Amino acid sequence: MKKIIGMTLMLTLSTASEARERFAGIYLDSSIPASQIRIIKDDLAYLYSNPIKDVDSEFQSMAELTKVDGPHLYNWVYNRVKYIIGEEYKLRGRNAVTKKGHTFPATPLPPSLLKRTNRYERISIMSNAGAELYLTGKLANVLRGLKLDNKSVFAPSPRVGIIQVGEGHFLERLLINKELQSEANKIKRLSTIFHEARHGDGHSEHVGFIHSKCPPGHNLSGFDACEAYSNGAYSIDAVATKTLLLNCKTCSIEDKTKLSATIADAYSRVVVRSHLKTEAQLLEEMATYQRVIDFYIGFIAANPKGAEASIKELERLQKQMKECEAQLKELKTPVHPKKMDAKPEGSFEEVSVEKSSSLMKSSLLRK
Ligand SMILES: [Zn+2]
Repeated sequence: MKKIIGMTLMLTLSTASEARERFAGIYLDSSIPASQIRIIKDDLAYLYSNPIKDVDSEFQSMAELTKVDGPHLYNWVYNRVKYIIGEEYKLRGRNAVTKKGHTFPATPLPPSLLKRTNRYERISIMSNAGAELYLTGKLANVLRGLKLDNKSVFAPSPRVGIIQVGEGHFLERLLINKELQSEANKIKRLSTIFHEARHGDGHSEHVGFIHSKCPPGHNLSGFDACEAYSNGAYSIDAVATKTLLLNCKTCSIEDKTKLSATIADAYSRVVVRSHLKTEAQLLEEMATYQRVIDFYIGFIAANPKGAEASIKELERLQKQMKECEAQLKELKTPVHPKKMDAKPEGSFEEVSVEKSSSLMKSSLLRK
């Protein structure tokens, strides 16, 4: 899931799925506005046709690619993205389908799946709905799916590849420059596709490489917007952006700077520990908090009437204190992001690069 804090999302009524189309083998649902469909198609064609010359050193091994060129990059995406649905597509209600009697792999679920609370719920950029269906289905022991392309598409693996795309993906202010179709903006949007595609990988406790809570001290502390792996969605996002940026022909200095900032942002999410402060800084901060907390406790006891504001402040200070304590604990028990086996869980079909390339070629001929 990739979201950003911003203005509140406005939902409008879902329209019935009539016109539908396929591009390079990917089903594009009619819930996606035509203008967005055009951009998605152009972005995928750009990826496939990219004459990659320079590659970021980590990208090939992280994505387990035999070769880094346009057709192999598209194949990597195609094996993880088969259906794209629009923001208006309703994941519940009559689009939802279930099937009983499915046997899920007897692997444990990610512990963080059970305690997801603080999720970004503002402007939606993109999410891997297929991985979500698989995970919530496995949790409830019922095979879940969606009505798509006039059929029921079930999720027996997070690799089912159903991606929901939101307006944030196309918003100028969340992109790199004002030209929606510029190379820099294509790179930005494709990096999000790589990110979401990665949520189709992984198994057992790291199935879907799902996000974890950002640690104390992180600027997104408490939000499920970080990951403890060195090859998860944010890492793939970063190295894919780096590679595409290395091969960008029309990126201006400003575009390059902004794309570098998005790479830095992605890396900043790959954290197990915060270590933003030293032990001495934390101890000093805690001593200060303790003094103010003691003051407020005394003050509230002496002035019980009208103490609401003071109680609020006391609670805030106590929370800060807890964060410091957690950070101190972390500092003393260092843990580093781990590289995880990306092998996906459940049943899915791996498509060859020849097959995905021929699907792309026939779509490009029709374009
Ligand atoms: Zn994500």
